[in-house]
Amino acid sequence: MGIVIAFFAVIITTITTHVQKDDTFRHVDNLPKSNIHVVILSGHGSILNNEYQTAGKQSPTWPDSLKIYEGYSCKLLALELSKKLTYEHIDNTIINNYSSDLSLFNRVELINKLFKTDNRLLMVSIHHNAQPVGNADYVDFEGQKGFTTIAKGGASGIEVYTSPGLTESDNFADNYLMPQLKGYLTDISFRNNGKSKEAGFYVLSKTTCPAVLIEFNFMTTWRPDCLQIADPFYRNAFTSAICTAIIIYNESKNTTNDKDIAYNRNKRAA
Ligand SMILES: [Zn+2]
Repeated sequence: MGIVIAFFAVIITTITTHVQKDDTFRHVDNLPKSNIHVVILSGHGSILNNEYQTAGKQSPTWPDSLKIYEGYSCKLLALELSKKLTYEHIDNTIINNYSSDLSLFNRVELINKLFKTDNRLLMVSIHHNAQPVGNADYVDFEGQKGFTTIAKGGASGIEVYTSPGLTESDNFADNYLMPQLKGYLTDISFRNNGKSKEAGFYVLSKTTCPAVLIEFNFMTTWRPDCLQIADPFYRNAFTSAICTAIIIYNESKNTTNDKDIAYNRNKRAA
């Protein structure tokens, strides 16, 4: 009898929790304020008319038939992140929303144009990494090379980049993004001793808003990197980590007065 009651209690709790949580389609007077507007940059092309749109930027076809097209995978991650942010009432825009490739110049131009009309921007660019494959131990039927394991020389793990110099981008990368990525992805390694790196990548140095670029594992390493890239568990953890970091960062901007917000949104000293 006790078991039966417990069983129904679980069902009722599940139903109630479900209804209470899903407030997306209910009218509320005061929505949580989005103090930031996230630009999710997924610049590489995806697959159009059965053809991958971006030269290179792909893994070999591995022995288990797994193959990662960076643009396709990152487009899906961008959509997943956008959906999570939208549910959390955080303004967000995906660039590039097309299946075709967008040049670096056009990516930056679109973001800077948006920043002129909305100074709440924070750019998050999503990629998969690759290493030189001259010494690779594996070649597929098309001649694409890669490393089957870390032991065979394959690089592994996550890297987070910001532009050179200490700016608001570093504040987001070091104090919000990195801790969440490490918390959600406990069995993925973090390169550079778990610290964010600085690089003059075009989308980091030419954008005027705070900007981070995340390299989620190596396409050139089969185990564990490509297996994790293709695994829904890791993909979900990856986008949840970014989303949680953004939620906390958004809250941190609540207490700042307007003048400070405008200052911090520009890529100047943090
Ligand atoms: Zn890339």
